[in-house]
Amino acid sequence: MIVADRKPLDEILDSIKDYKKIMLMACGGCVTVCFSGGSKAAGLLASQIKMARKKQGKAIEIIECTPERQCEYEFIDELKNDIESVEAVLSIACGVGVQTMSEHLPQAITIPGLNTKFMGYPVEHALWEERCAGCGDCVLGWTGGYCPIARCAKKLFNGPCGGSSDGKCEVDKDIECVWQLIHDRLKQLNKLDNLTVVRGPKDWRTSTNAGQRKIKFEEAML
Ligand code: SF4
Ligand code: SF4
Repeated sequence: MIVADRKPLDEILDSIKDYKKIMLMACGGCVTVCFSGGSKAAGLLASQIKMARKKQGKAIEIIECTPERQCEYEFIDELKNDIESVEAVLSIACGVGVQTMSEHLPQAITIPGLNTKFMGYPVEHALWEERCAGCGDCVLGWTGGYCPIARCAKKLFNGPCGGSSDGKCEVDKDIECVWQLIHDRLKQLNKLDNLTVVRGPKDWRTSTNAGQRKIKFEEAML
């Protein structure tokens, strides 16, 4: 799931300071699940914005809406008329939602209200941890299901680095050393041989390092 966090209120207020009528567009997808961008979050943010603007003596009109997914045309198209009636859209979707709005409905400027963080795993209620960085060439098959890119501070492929202590990462003692986890899981699977293979440098062109990536599913075109 994509995990995002709300921007500080002062930053949001500054980004909409020139507008008197905005649409506050939430998203019913991932950001609803992680509490940062659903209709409840939109209601709270709208109240905070109105209160702050009232204090400044600069009232603001806010239209709230929550399409099922902000990253798909079919869900935002139906809001076209409302969007044409506002000066700006404040989006509390992930970065893809913001860009879908900007490109597909450019009538009003779309401003991000969230910081999109990572693809995460729900560890417990209201707590997500990063699990995938979308590197484009998954290695979980030989690491026992633990990601050394999203979870190792040094992104090592031939870990551990030697700095871990009591199973914790030397960079942050509150974080588990993923190479310890990899070792323990491979031992459990009777696949410790995986760790005797020296892995070459990762080809980072499959990640964002070579610029924008594209995927086209030919089957879907049939
Ligand atoms: S190896 Fe790459 S694709 Fe696989 S979980 Fe890690 S970042 Fe994601
Ligand atoms: S202690 Fe473990 S997780 Fe931390 S940088 Fe070293 S190998 Fe990576």
